[in-house]
Amino acid sequence: PRLANQIAAGEVVERPAAVAKELIENAIDAASRRIEVEVEQGGTRLIKVRDDGVGIAENDLPLALSRHATSKIESLGDLEGVSSLGFRGEALASISSVSRLALTSNALDDPRSGFRVMAEGRGMEARVAPAPHPRGTSVEVRDLFFNTPARRKFLRTEKTEFAHLEEAFRRQALSRYDIAWTLRHNQKTVHQLPPGDSPAARERRIASLLGKTFIEHARYIERQVGDLRLSGWVGLPTHSRGQADQQYFFVNGRVVRDRLVAHAVRQAYRDVLYNGRHPVFVLYLDVDPDVVDVNVHPTKHEVRFRDGRTVHDFLFSSLHRCLAHTQP
Ligand code: ADP
Ligand code: MG
Repeated sequence: PRLANQIAAGEVVERPAAVAKELIENAIDAASRRIEVEVEQGGTRLIKVRDDGVGIAENDLPLALSRHATSKIESLGDLEGVSSLGFRGEALASISSVSRLALTSNALDDPRSGFRVMAEGRGMEARVAPAPHPRGTSVEVRDLFFNTPARRKFLRTEKTEFAHLEEAFRRQALSRYDIAWTLRHNQKTVHQLPPGDSPAARERRIASLLGKTFIEHARYIERQVGDLRLSGWVGLPTHSRGQADQQYFFVNGRVVRDRLVAHAVRQAYRDVLYNGRHPVFVLYLDVDPDVVDVNVHPTKHEVRFRDGRTVHDFLFSSLHRCLAHTQP
């Protein structure tokens, strides 16, 4: 299973940001109200995600670190015949195969309760040890890729790795305004985001994550046609390269980078895009979950709409109307 885990890790975990994303998703799944992310040295030394969610019961702790399905891959040679690995239910197992991982959790209301399991590359320590923890879970991932030098070689500078991790954090924080978030890097607070779902609270969060300039120049958009609903902030196209990737599009709360969506947005912006300006936006599309498949690929953020044409036209016309009033 070690080999299989490391192979799966190659798919899920290409850098610290990917680890953070998986841990944060788990914290969200656990119905947490508060999620704290602590990072050292760009995430290469430490990534810690602490939540106040439902927690993991003592008996389930070892299970959380084991793969749910046994891989059929026995040797590296077999890899060639495999086009894609299903790796849902394998994030923690994969991460623990390439790091030193400690999972501490308390599923009870008693703050004196709590248990910890540890895993380090080769395997899990069988022992589940008592470790008091407030209700919720902490996952600590240390020394990522300590046992896979080839992978470690691909890590960039601390600054670059942290930038990727912060971007992953931003996307998650923009997807759940009802959760309180903290991000710390090398003991310094980078983001501290109180919860709040009102439009004003949302704008404060966006200003804090993307800068005051973005929100000061953005137009709020809200439009519903049938069961398609679009809301969010459309910014003035910017000259600044640094803001070129301030393009956030969520479908049913999940961040998405999708060709159809990108095309509709670009078309709508076409008239106001000149001199190499870049569109900037934070947009939320809500659709009937039955007409969209969000899990085309768990790490690529693609979607497939049953009726792509209708979605495309809806996006284009909504944005075009909005942008017609937003000439720079
Ligand atoms: P998946 O999330 O796809 O099930 P993971 O490897 O990410 O697979 O997590 C394995 C399991 O561990 C989860 O299904 C969940 O039961 C448990 N788990 C992981 N992180 C948390 C958390 N922060 N709070 C509660 N349970 C968790
Ligand atoms: Mg998970």
